[in-house]
Amino acid sequence: MLFDRESVRRRVAGLGAQISWDYRGKSLLLVAVLKGAEVFHADLGRVIDAEVETSYDFMAVGSYGRATRSSGEVRILKDLDESLEGRDILLVEDIVDSGLTLHYIRRHLLARAPRSLKVAALLDKPSSRAVEVDADYVGFAIPDRFVVGYGMDYAERYRNLPDIHILLSPDERR
Ligand code: 5GP
Repeated sequence: MLFDRESVRRRVAGLGAQISWDYRGKSLLLVAVLKGAEVFHADLGRVIDAEVETSYDFMAVGSYGRATRSSGEVRILKDLDESLEGRDILLVEDIVDSGLTLHYIRRHLLARAPRSLKVAALLDKPSSRAVEVDADYVGFAIPDRFVVGYGMDYAERYRNLPDIHILLSPDERR
């Protein structure tokens, strides 16, 4: 186990407090990148205080499938329903790894003329970057290991685990 549910809860509450302060008196569109960020998005939304008028939207991008490395190719599988023009957007991601996904999604969203676009990532693997891109709010920086749980999968499994775990290789399990 890498982070238990209580550590995650406390860290998400901290991010919520920071975001509430930064956006006080404003309206914020919280955009989740499905599927991995769904749990983080739901928890983060509930710790942003009522002074921030918050709405939700969802997009989905092509995932790793069964591999544990990004191909660098990102496909939009589900686009947003809301207009972004003139709005403050907070993109909610599970993990920034190579950064290719975030780089692509940022460009895609910035083309729709939001007033501001920031990124909240639960996890960050800073040593794995292939492109220079960073999240504005980061839950935890982690080493270059594959993690599951709290919404994050391996081949669609383990998303429901309440804690965050490192997926061990068959060698490590022996
Ligand atoms: P990137 O394009 O930054 O390399 O990868 C970003 C996406 O790959 C994340 O949003 C996530 O869906 C997936 N990803 C990267 N690292 C991990 C990991 O350790 N575990 C899981 N489950 N997904 C990961």
